[in-house]
Amino acid sequence: MIFAVLGTRPEVVKMAPVIAALHKRNIPVRIVGTGQHYNWKMMGSFLETFGLPVDHQLTLERRDLMGSFVEIVSGLGALFTQHKPSLVLAQGDTTTVMAAAIAARKCGSAFGHVEAGLRAFSRELPEEEHRICADALADLLFAPTRIAVENLTREQVNGKVILTGNTVLDALRAHPPHVPAEREGVLVTLHRQETVDDPEKLAQVLAALDRISREMPVLWPVHPRTVAKVAEAGLVFPACIEVCEPLGHTEFLGKIASSKLVISDSGGVQEEAAILGTPVVTVRNNTERPETIAEGVGLLAGTDKTAILAAIDRILTEWDTFARPSPHLYGDGRAGEKIASACAEWLASQVSPAALLRTAT
Ligand code: UDP
Repeated sequence: MIFAVLGTRPEVVKMAPVIAALHKRNIPVRIVGTGQHYNWKMMGSFLETFGLPVDHQLTLERRDLMGSFVEIVSGLGALFTQHKPSLVLAQGDTTTVMAAAIAARKCGSAFGHVEAGLRAFSRELPEEEHRICADALADLLFAPTRIAVENLTREQVNGKVILTGNTVLDALRAHPPHVPAEREGVLVTLHRQETVDDPEKLAQVLAALDRISREMPVLWPVHPRTVAKVAEAGLVFPACIEVCEPLGHTEFLGKIASSKLVISDSGGVQEEAAILGTPVVTVRNNTERPETIAEGVGLLAGTDKTAILAAIDRILTEWDTFARPSPHLYGDGRAGEKIASACAEWLASQVSPAALLRTAT
């Protein structure tokens, strides 16, 4: 039995193709929701879009980083002790992923990390710690790109590294948006601790967005974390920006496809924009996803107002050179199948205790 652990909306998007491919092979898989994202707009609607029923749902009392980590490890530990899955799968770089890796290994289950090997080379980022921990403990490491494979090779991880491509491409192909001939406006998403928890950085980014919203329509489906941080910092959303609640996945992909430009600190949004040929200004100082920058379909701008505006200006001036659909960055759209195939092979290679006993007698 495989347990697939899901904590946040991008984990649903990127794990869905793996679960679908496991189902196709008739491999039993149970879905665990850790409750890290918990409301309809951030989690329920994504589970519904991808048709994923949750078999085991944890309920978290605490929402701080340490409290939620402890509750997820302990909730998953209790589940894995009871059900003894052969293999636990988790995707990405959240608290859920680190907790799933630790709980799996402590309960005697193997752990497989989907989207292994991404590195921003910045240990201050909580996401980087989660990835390093998950990769160090993983038995199976599903690397989305060659760069990720190189990172894991350099770190001499113990588990088996398999280059699969990124399931983000499979997921997008399952719900392809219409790409209009004419694109207009700017789509914004921001949620990372490194951006929105620092009032000075947040003020700089808001100032840049304020400027651009006076020249072009700007739509910002705001992450709940960002709503809270803007209020805590005593800041306000610029008046000309159309601010809305998080959008459902299909609608959001449509917005990426119809926008002239995306401004974001999100990993998944950056990948989806690159696939759909919408240039991205990444509002961060470093990235674990260098492929869009190297490919020339996005710019890493940092968080200063002037630098963000310069990056926007450059992309709008040279739009045709940046606006190139680049699905090849993420494989061939069969990452889910490759992961399921590696899981099947791995499960078949495990000798059951009963078989071991038979061999010994
Ligand atoms: N997303 C969405 N609606 C929104 C914002 C994002 O469907 O209003 C999707 C987006 O298409 C992508 C995922 O959420 O698949 C990215 O999640 P997020 O930015 O929260 O996390 P990250 O990818 O940075 O880990």
